[in-house]
Amino acid sequence: MSLYRETVPHEGFSILRRWADRIPRGAFVFTSNVDGQFQKAGFSEGRVHECHGSIHTLQCLDACTNDTWSAEEFHPLVNEKTSELESALPRCPRCGALARPNILMFGDWGWVDVTYERQRERLEAWISLVSKPVVIELGAGKALPTVRRFSERNARGRLIRINLRDPNTSPSHGVGFEGNCAATLKLLASR
Ligand SMILES: [Zn+2]
Repeated sequence: MSLYRETVPHEGFSILRRWADRIPRGAFVFTSNVDGQFQKAGFSEGRVHECHGSIHTLQCLDACTNDTWSAEEFHPLVNEKTSELESALPRCPRCGALARPNILMFGDWGWVDVTYERQRERLEAWISLVSKPVVIELGAGKALPTVRRFSERNARGRLIRINLRDPNTSPSHGVGFEGNCAATLKLLASR
């Protein structure tokens, strides 16, 4: 959490913002990243769907309630040598149990998906208004293909896949570029 708070979004994010600002319906972000970088780069909270949740949101470990809350009050003091947390762990304000990040883990039955559902509804409403969507897919892996499946399903032939290892895209889905996301976006913007 501390590392993500310190991270500055790379230039690729502002290129995406510029493109989004030029088109009538703007853009919507679908991301499996939990680091909150799109919001930090200026994408509106109402236009982001974080399909695996966010590290900047907390929930009760025992899921005593469906409430989630911002982690901004939690300031972890981490020993850089041992990677141990030296400050108190965050607690659920309702029952006092430990709090945890609202991130979907493997086999995670205690994940509160209220934010996920609200974001998903907004995304679906937005997609239904867009007649010719273009999907720019960035660095999505094949091991857990949630993002790749989403983009192939929604691009309707207008998929731009940027991937360092596996840019292969069937012609019916769109085009693929092999490379680093920030560098490839810069190259496309310059053209
Ligand atoms: Zn609780």
